[in-house]
Formats: sequence, structure tokens, C-alpha cells
Amino acid sequence: MRIDKLLAHSGLGTRKEVKKLLKTSIVEINGEVVKDPKTQVDPDIDEVFIAGEPLDYQEFVYFMLNKPAGVISATEDDMHETVLDLLQPSDIVQDPHPVGRLDIDTEGLLLLTNDGTLTHRLLSPKHHVDKKYFAEIKGIVTEKDITEFKEGIELDDEYLTMPADLRILSVDEEEATSKIEIVIQEGKFHQVKRMFHAVDKEVLYLKRLSMGPLTLDPLLELGAYRECTKEEIQQLK
Ligand code: URA
Repeated sequence: MRIDKLLAHSGLGTRKEVKKLLKTSIVEINGEVVKDPKTQVDPDIDEVFIAGEPLDYQEFVYFMLNKPAGVISATEDDMHETVLDLLQPSDIVQDPHPVGRLDIDTEGLLLLTNDGTLTHRLLSPKHHVDKKYFAEIKGIVTEKDITEFKEGIELDDEYLTMPADLRILSVDEEEATSKIEIVIQEGKFHQVKRMFHAVDKEVLYLKRLSMGPLTLDPLLELGAYRECTKEEIQQLK
């Protein structure tokens, strides 16, 4: 890739800014000062130094976001703010994209990465990656619902879901509402909402807590994000 792109992707500024940086003669590739932004460089082979310090370049980025309601999990949209709008400009230069979708009104864990292989594996129906949600439900969730969810639920389009683990956390008889946790293995469109609809209940609030081995960091406020740790990335791979 071009040296200006590599420097920009390493967080050293915009393409324009790194071009200025190159003019200051502080960038070296394999011991040679380079000033031409078009110079080709292979970060896996070439040694790049900035003012005598080795360049810290990571090909892939992994961010854990606590998605708030009102924001869509796409990379662009004409009407709404997207999850990319919540990231610092320096964190979007490497083109991270959301891994899967959460509805506009769903909160919680969203992984953003530019690692296409990992994205493909996490989303592939073959791999049955568990997704755990917390939900508030209009209606009293019962043991019968637990059994039915375990057997798979027929959705409005006659698709039979894979077994889902439903756990009742609490029931408010007076308000006729329930708090539950559910683990599903697929990611069909509006899946959790449609599963509850099939048993005559309504999801009032939905939050994703985990995806495979990745668990939402409880310290992340709504709308906040952080880089995944090395351990989290290793567990995902
Ligand atoms: N199921 C839903 O219904 N909505 C989501 O956003 C995620 C799972």
C-alpha cells in the first residue's frame, strides 16, 4: 500500500496531514528517508520508523460498542445517525463495519471490525454463534414459553427457529410484564421480537449482552466504545 495510506491508517492524521509529515523527512522505510506519499510499502515486510520510533500498525481493528437506541447498525444512512458516527474519526480510517445488525431500538453489544474473515465466521449460519439478550416483555412469560422456545418457534413466515434458551428473571403480575434473558443461535430479521410475537407477547426493550465469547463490558456507557482486548480477539478467532 502507499505510505500515506499506511500512516493515516496508523492514526497519524488525515492523508493531507501525513503528506505534510512526510515532507519533514522524519519517515524512514528500511533506513531510507521517504518523502513521496506514493511510495509503496508492505507493513509485513518493510521496517517503518517515524522520528526513530517503529510504526505501530495494526491491519485489523476491533471495537466493542454499547449501541444506544435511535442509531442504526449500518455504515451509512440518509435519515439516521449510524454506529460509525459514534466513533472517533481516527477510528474509522480503517473502515470498520458492524458485525451483524441490531434494530434501531435495540441497545447493547455491537462488534465493529474490518476483519472480513472473522465477520463472515461470526455471521455464518453454519457456526451457530450464541447471542444473548436481556428483554422486557409485555405479558407474563411462563414455563410453557420456555418449553416452546426450546423446541423452536415457528415465525410469521413459517420459519422454525433453532432451539432458544429462555430464562425468566422476574415477573410483575400487576403490570403484566416480565424480564427475561434469551440465547438464540441465529440472527433472523427481528428474531427475538418475532419469537415473542408468536407466543402473543411483545418485546418492550431489548439489549444484547453477548455474542459468542464476547460479553458487553458493563463499564461502557450507552454510545461508548473501546478497543477489544487481545484476549477478547483471541477468543473470537
Ligand atoms: N432480535 C430482534 O428482534 N431485534 C434485534 O435487534 C436483535 C435480535
